Amino acid sequence: MVNICFSCGKCCLDTEMQLTLDDLTRIEASMGKSWKEFSRWDGNSNVILKNVNHHCIFFSPTDKSCTIYEIRPFGCQLYPVVLNPWSNRCSYDKDCPHPKQISPAKFLDAKCRLIKKQLPHFFFSREPQTNE
Ligand code: SF4
Repeated sequence: MVNICFSCGKCCLDTEMQLTLDDLTRIEASMGKSWKEFSRWDGNSNVILKNVNHHCIFFSPTDKSCTIYEIRPFGCQLYPVVLNPWSNRCSYDKDCPHPKQISPAKFLDAKCRLIKKQLPHFFFSREPQTNE
């Protein structure tokens, strides 16, 4: 699956991207930071990327790029395909202006299956405890 991003940066503004435990530990290990430095527990069931100045903490507004692209969260890797938890169906996120160029429709089902497989890992019954 080849992703061609036009680097508009819209998906990284006021992000509400949810993270999996794998995302937390991978980014922690790579950056030597605690997950609390780049994400926050919502007090209920999810850990969400932090924003700074209305953009993701890892977004560079200067060149409109992700500073952790190689280790970016699972949800960012599959974006703009998103799962609607109420209908249990996938679609393209409305914030992406070029969804089909970035993720051709023929990959929609495959990406949807990947998201559904990971779905349980987006939920935390309590605040995560990691090694950092
Ligand atoms: S981690 Fe990277 S791709 Fe994901 S929202 Fe932040 S800047 Fe954008």
